[in-house]
Amino acid sequence: MNAKVIPIVNQEFRDIVPVIPERLTAPTGSLVDALARPLHDLRISVTDHCNFRCVYCMPKEVFGKDYQFLPHASLLTFEEITRVARLFVAHGVTKIRLTGGEPLLRKNLERLVAMLAELRTPDGKALDLTLTTNGSLLARKAQALKDAGLRRLSVSLDALDEDIFQRMNDIGFPAAKVLEGIEAAQQAGLGPIKVNMVVKAGLNDDQIVPMARRFKDTPIVLRFIEFMDVGSSNGWNMDQVIPSAEVVRRIHAEMPLELIPANYPGETASRWRYRDGGGEVGMISSVTQAFCHECTRIRLSTEGKLYTCLFATGGHDLRGLLRSNASDAEISQTIAHIWNQRDDRYSELRTADTRVNGASQPGKKVEMSYIGG
Ligand code: SAM
Repeated sequence: MNAKVIPIVNQEFRDIVPVIPERLTAPTGSLVDALARPLHDLRISVTDHCNFRCVYCMPKEVFGKDYQFLPHASLLTFEEITRVARLFVAHGVTKIRLTGGEPLLRKNLERLVAMLAELRTPDGKALDLTLTTNGSLLARKAQALKDAGLRRLSVSLDALDEDIFQRMNDIGFPAAKVLEGIEAAQQAGLGPIKVNMVVKAGLNDDQIVPMARRFKDTPIVLRFIEFMDVGSSNGWNMDQVIPSAEVVRRIHAEMPLELIPANYPGETASRWRYRDGGGEVGMISSVTQAFCHECTRIRLSTEGKLYTCLFATGGHDLRGLLRSNASDAEISQTIAHIWNQRDDRYSELRTADTRVNGASQPGKKVEMSYIGG
């Protein structure tokens, strides 16, 4: 067994001051990075707060009562977020995901949803607008989100067993309430709904088959996520990862599966269909089968820093530009420049590295709760 563990550290991320390029050109509707990857998805974190303390994401020992969350004034306003989103859409972004922290904790989130729902791609199409939530407030908010223009959503649920789930979220929140939230989202007409389960060895891997059984024969797509070495506070090592191949093997033994083609190039999950027609499950194998070569995502943090990789150690301070007199053309060109320079492929490099030493690469990486999942 590999006992190497990453120590708990405070988050101090590198700020990258963006440089406005001298020559300003109009957006062409498509951007590629240094490794020829197009830009399609923007993930926006709307808060760094969460009401859960999932042991693998925001452990209480780090995110306790003395933890300094961002002051309200440093958060991007809805107007600022919409301005940035509009510039990204002009560059070819077609999908926006709101995340956090827990996005439903941001006051009046429906107002932001309504503002983003009005954006149109250069060829006049509405965006694929979605949200990732822990589901705890969904029963109350699903209808308002739908009315504001949200199309679909992903709900995180790591176990059905109440003991296991409540131990994992570490605030004793019942799985039954998350299931009620999912039900309310279905009733409100939000769909298709995806349920995401992070699998951590020895913690909830005995929930793989019960979760598969629960969502089989429903329109909900359950996706299994390999436990990743995001941030520096979750003590990750390779022994805690159940490879997707093993998840497939366990489900297949009881409910036979077959691999089916991706919906679109760059889809994060591989798709598996139940052979008896009972729907499908997805596998997000960011550790064992890194998909950096197809990554089309960029992330905007709660305080307006742009991260070109989930595992980044620094973010480009867009808020500084937004709150100075920078014009749309200047911000747009800065965004283009950042994407053009991007050459991140952390997970592929880590995969090579973990084959050698079983642990994550050292360095202060940004926390998932700050940048958003
Ligand atoms: N609060 C929202 C939620 O629970 O979905 C959105 C933010 S949360 C950080 C987004 C997703 O990241 C969740 O599905 C969570 O389980 C996942 N996540 C957090 N830490 C992770 C890790 N180390 N490895 C894999 N997934 C992780």
